Amino acid sequence: MTPNFDMLRLKVSSDPAELLRRRGIQLTAQRLAVMRAVAAEPHITADAVADAVRDGIGAISLQSVYDTLTLLVAEGLIRRIQPSGSAARFEDRVGDNHHHLICRVCGRVVDVNCAVGAAPCLEAADNRGYEIDEAEVAYWGRCPDCRKQRTHRPPTKRSRHT
Ligand SMILES: [Zn+2]
Ligand SMILES: [Zn+2]
Repeated sequence: MTPNFDMLRLKVSSDPAELLRRRGIQLTAQRLAVMRAVAAEPHITADAVADAVRDGIGAISLQSVYDTLTLLVAEGLIRRIQPSGSAARFEDRVGDNHHHLICRVCGRVVDVNCAVGAAPCLEAADNRGYEIDEAEVAYWGRCPDCRKQRTHRPPTKRSRHT
């Protein structure tokens, strides 16, 4: 059984091969290439992973990329985020409950640490009886580059969900 501290480990600098081995996942060229692609570009899309893997080891189907990403997410080696209106993104910074800043204009995604301290957002004001193990917070706005380019334009009105 995996000790608990292992799950809480922040991004590790270990070799992807070592990480796979430690999880008891069979080493394949595809899995290694996918791990490396995600490590090289945080918040990468599956399409971009496929491109990177093809550059590295040759042909791979998009379905194989999806299957590999799904396996690695299930094993806790990478994290999947799904900003609304965007393709899923993958990153190898796992276990720290960090959040994301997402630009509405260009879609750029950057990491932002949990609000204060370890993970206070896990302490919901009212948990309604749920056992909470993850808080996914996305801060939406415009990144610095897009702000520079669009300063003359008023921000888009938010759609109401009433
Ligand atoms: Zn932007
Ligand atoms: Zn991130």
